[in-house]
Amino acid sequence: MPEPTPVLPEVLAQIRSVPVTEKPLIICDVDEVILHMTTHLEDYLNARDLVFLKYEYRLTGNIGGKSDRNPIGSDDVRRHLLTFFDEISHRQDMVPGADRALGALSDNWDIVLLTNLPGGHNKPVREKLLAGKGIPYPVLTNSGPKGGAVAALAAGRPGPVVFIDDSPTNHVSVSASLPASVQIQFIADDRFRQSVEKESHIDLLTGDWQETAAFISDILQGP
Ligand SMILES: [Mg+2]
Repeated sequence: MPEPTPVLPEVLAQIRSVPVTEKPLIICDVDEVILHMTTHLEDYLNARDLVFLKYEYRLTGNIGGKSDRNPIGSDDVRRHLLTFFDEISHRQDMVPGADRALGALSDNWDIVLLTNLPGGHNKPVREKLLAGKGIPYPVLTNSGPKGGAVAALAAGRPGPVVFIDDSPTNHVSVSASLPASVQIQFIADDRFRQSVEKESHIDLLTGDWQETAAFISDILQGP
């Protein structure tokens, strides 16, 4: 089990701007959960004669040439990701049903979007895109594992807290920092979701917003 990670000062400053209420809280990731990312990244890579070597949750070592299948180095991966985000952030497609599901849940839940963007890169673009799609919730940018930020967001609230994210790393981190949270691993892409094993700290593994909304609604139904 990893140690809980501390929340970064720049993330804590953003968290302090979110009002603390008595409502239960949903903390939701953006890429591959609310907005498609894998399919866009695949298009970007294909246009450069690159491919995912496996449908596996890893970027470094998992992107290579279409014909030689040689993995490109970590610096190249980082460079491509920054270029990719610059090209795509303003036009990523929404995962079907995300707007309606979150809209219905927002009657009873506070909703905060917690997204990893290098250095808060493209945050205004992302906020504008989401708001334009009917997803007007506060956007907080983080970097690295999300456990510390999730625990800080949950502090002083009565609970329950639901955490929705595609990344196995983030779920391990949240499980260490806030084990009481309800953890939903949402992966929009079928191929990547099917490559993931449901771990014991995951309450629901899904790629479907209707199922997610029903699962979360049930949490508030007492026995
Ligand atoms: Mg994500």
